[in-house]
Amino acid sequence: MKLGILGGGQLARMLAMAAHPLGIETVFVDPSPQAPARVVGESLVAAYDDRDMLMAMAGRVDIATYEFENVPDEAARALASAVRLLPPPEALRVSQDRVIEKQTLASLGVPTPAFRAVDDRAALSDAVAALGAPCVLKTRRFGYDGKGQAVIRSTDASALDRAWQLVGAGRVPCILEGFVAFDRELSQLAARAASGEVRFYPLVQSQHDRGVLRETIAPAPSTSATIEALARGHVQRLLEHLDYVGVIALELFQIGDALFANEFAPRVHNSGHWTIEGAETSQFENHVRAVCGLPLGSTGALGRSAMLNLLGDVPASADVLAIRGAHLHLYGKSAAPWRKLGHLTLVERSGETDFDARLAQLRALVDASIVAPDA
Ligand code: AMP
Repeated sequence: MKLGILGGGQLARMLAMAAHPLGIETVFVDPSPQAPARVVGESLVAAYDDRDMLMAMAGRVDIATYEFENVPDEAARALASAVRLLPPPEALRVSQDRVIEKQTLASLGVPTPAFRAVDDRAALSDAVAALGAPCVLKTRRFGYDGKGQAVIRSTDASALDRAWQLVGAGRVPCILEGFVAFDRELSQLAARAASGEVRFYPLVQSQHDRGVLRETIAPAPSTSATIEALARGHVQRLLEHLDYVGVIALELFQIGDALFANEFAPRVHNSGHWTIEGAETSQFENHVRAVCGLPLGSTGALGRSAMLNLLGDVPASADVLAIRGAHLHLYGKSAAPWRKLGHLTLVERSGETDFDARLAQLRALVDASIVAPDA
């Protein structure tokens, strides 16, 4: 069997690595000849809207999927007309636009931060008057890892002007969201098979820095049964609504016993990287299994896990691997400030008592190597 993947980044690379042992080959379309997945499958170097190349891929594969949600809608639909594309293109369409995404979540009874669509500077004033400060201005489309967003801390016109200039200045449609003073951020991953069977990974805790994921702890510590059930219920309704097949991630803000959905990713997700060593079946393998029509694997955790992102630069491999139980994943990307170049994981096995000490050592290595955006 051959699986086509739109995008050849680190997610495609890890999907291909999970597909190989199942005897599934992979073909990618990515505009960059240096795409991280180039070493693990056949790559077609082309723009995502290159119809000829998409049709060439469709002719070579049995099924297609995507590794990021900003694949142009027309490209996804063109591909879907020639080969089965999973998750369904509708999931892409909804997740690509923060307003449609939040409207969809709200219609399913999934609470979100308060929001207003903002198309011009006057609408920004109205929206800030309605939601109050602090609030967050974001582009409706093509934002990721905190790009295309600005926090507005005062209702002064000058603060609005600054945010407006930073976030597109009228060139792109925007959304204003109420700022959520969350206790913590959580992420619920699940896999759904074409049969409708759903398997949930444990709810995980994510820590972001300037919009970028720094660390995931799985399972999320001190999680009540109420919160767990809420998160699963939200994801279940979304999966059924989209008639979804594959792995999905719903990012959530927790305040006490309440959850607010920030966004969902219709794909494997950074907050699920811990599953490679930390779960019985990784998110990558379960995504491949789901889209290829194979039975889902167990989503159970093998113990407590931590995942740390390597941003901007990487520590010496020998230093990481000298720490017992640590695993290193490098994506083969050139270094740039704040770029995700790889990640580390640590899994606690039963009977171990020094997990926290080893995690502290790993954090120190990561902190020493990180290159921040203003570097
Ligand atoms: P996003 O690109 O929407 O996933 O946002 C990246 C990160 O910015 C989130 O993980 C939060 O840490 C923070 N953030 C985004 N939206 C809000 C919000 N409405 N209130 C508070 N923090 C937010």
